[in-house]
Amino acid sequence: MEVILEAHNIYKSFGGVKALRDVSLNVERGKIVGIIGPNGSGKTTLINVITGFLKADKGRVIFEGYDVTNLPPYSRAKLGLVRTFQIPRPLTDFTTLENVAVAAMITGMDKAEAYKRAVKILEQVGLSYAANIKAGLLNIIEKKRLELARVLALNPKLVMLDEVLAGARGSELVSLLDTIRGLREQGITVVMVEHLVSAVASISDWLIVLNEGRKIAEGRPKEVLENPEVIKAYIGEVK
Ligand code: ADP
Ligand code: MG
Repeated sequence: MEVILEAHNIYKSFGGVKALRDVSLNVERGKIVGIIGPNGSGKTTLINVITGFLKADKGRVIFEGYDVTNLPPYSRAKLGLVRTFQIPRPLTDFTTLENVAVAAMITGMDKAEAYKRAVKILEQVGLSYAANIKAGLLNIIEKKRLELARVLALNPKLVMLDEVLAGARGSELVSLLDTIRGLREQGITVVMVEHLVSAVASISDWLIVLNEGRKIAEGRPKEVLENPEVIKAYIGEVK
């Protein structure tokens, strides 16, 4: 068991809103870790802090043994720590393939290499059929697959996925879950933030639960979902 990512005692407030309160977590290399919690529980904020898009008020982030707390996002990405966005942000006037190739070029590949790699990655995420379509024309699930493709092009060691399953159902959901398992098989550590519980619980090796900015539970999915405090947090949201 080797820890690839550590967050220590993270605090983040927005004015009076305490988005994260003393959140600590460890992620083991090669696992799929799910982070769940009701809307507004701090999931996206946690991704922002861990990947450097927001500065924490307090706390430290350690990636592969390096203290990355004060590094900007691109430096963390260079180390292999990358994220997707809850609202996909493709270059809408570029084709799907071009979007992925541009990301590959960021790692220093030349154009020919980058396009070759982009073709492979689109296969991996099931988007080859849309390679030459402008990214702005993709539907929301396709845009999420493209987000996934773009982070894979950065050659990550750990990906943080922000609600990549949201809106997917049926065979779409099954195939997205397959793609994500494929990442783990490839040796990429996956941290998935999701609002809806059942799909992420089915795929995760470990589940962490946030509520009102605090970590209220973690463990194997089955045990966590039976935890009364977790059930209460979700029921509280349905009211
Ligand atoms: P989740 O992703 O779990 O739905 P967020 O991390 O987006 O939750 O938000 C946690 C809390 O912080 C919410 O109350 C939200 O309104 C607040 N918040 C998040 N980002 C900002 C921001 N940039 N400015 C002000 N408040 C924010
Ligand atoms: Mg969110």
